[in-house]
Amino acid sequence: MSKVLVLNASYEPLNITSWRRAIVLVIKGKAEQVEHNGRFIYPEMPLPTVIRLRNYVRVPYKEIPLTRRNILQRDDHTCQYCGLSGDGLTLDHVVPRSRGGGDKWDNIVTACVRCNVKKGNRTPREASMPLRNPPRRPHSSLYFEVTRQVKSGTHAEWKKYVIGV
Ligand SMILES: [Zn+2]
Repeated sequence: MSKVLVLNASYEPLNITSWRRAIVLVIKGKAEQVEHNGRFIYPEMPLPTVIRLRNYVRVPYKEIPLTRRNILQRDDHTCQYCGLSGDGLTLDHVVPRSRGGGDKWDNIVTACVRCNVKKGNRTPREASMPLRNPPRRPHSSLYFEVTRQVKSGTHAEWKKYVIGV
């Protein structure tokens, strides 16, 4: 069954929960329904797809580890230079390591082997290979799951609650 995006009282995405848990929160008055998919589970109770908590919940910031897997996911498994997607993708330092470019979210992008070799030890500007998307640190680990759900079309209605998806 479908999942439900939970927004904080401030409308920021907080987490993803099951529809059962979401219904309980709404019935208990702890959350309000923001979006539903038009299907009813009880009379006057449409199945929610987005709910919002009535009280603000303070969340400690959780850093997302800078890993190959997470970078590929952020870049949608697509070469950030030519748009090729699929297997055999590599990671490219935008400013090459040999020239002081660090291992940071905003300096590592997904690149196909061809583009990686072609770019070599140059910056995108020097190589005349502009990036399709400026690389940046994802907002949260929730960002990954929400992006996946929005892009797959399962929950396109979540898009307006998340910046940068
Ligand atoms: Zn490429």
